[in-house]
Amino acid sequence: MASVNSWSGDRARPHRSRVSPTRRPAPGGLRTTVRAVAVPGLAIVDDDGEEVVLDTEEAERLFALTGDLDAATVSACPECRSCVLAVVALVDLLGDSPPHDRTGELVQLADDAPTLHVYLRDLSVPCRHRTWRDPGFEEWSEVMADLGDPRAAR
Ligand SMILES: [Zn+2]
Repeated sequence: MASVNSWSGDRARPHRSRVSPTRRPAPGGLRTTVRAVAVPGLAIVDDDGEEVVLDTEEAERLFALTGDLDAATVSACPECRSCVLAVVALVDLLGDSPPHDRTGELVQLADDAPTLHVYLRDLSVPCRHRTWRDPGFEEWSEVMADLGDPRAAR
């Protein structure tokens, strides 16, 4: 009483031709890159003006991974995250912290810094740093002035 399944063998396998399909141009203008929409969160610069800019998400992750960079902070604005960082401590701290996408760049910046300090500028909030009163702030603001605020430059 066995019925023969005969349907399995009689379909020809479709041959894939190797003719290349026509290439359609990708629709333009729809590609989004993270960088294009990212909001700058902070910049870390050295005395030569070398700079690494992190977007707000990267900045938050960096602070989360490094304990707010506390271990490397020499002097900081009480009202924002701008601060002076010690390069040796920063390299150590980055080495001890879980890896961040930008760790390599930050370590390189710190390694190549011409002085013992690099300078973090908080770009996410407007701040005049009015309550940041110690020699670290003077050092920090001189570097920032050199970078581009003509009114602050002497
Ligand atoms: Zn500030």
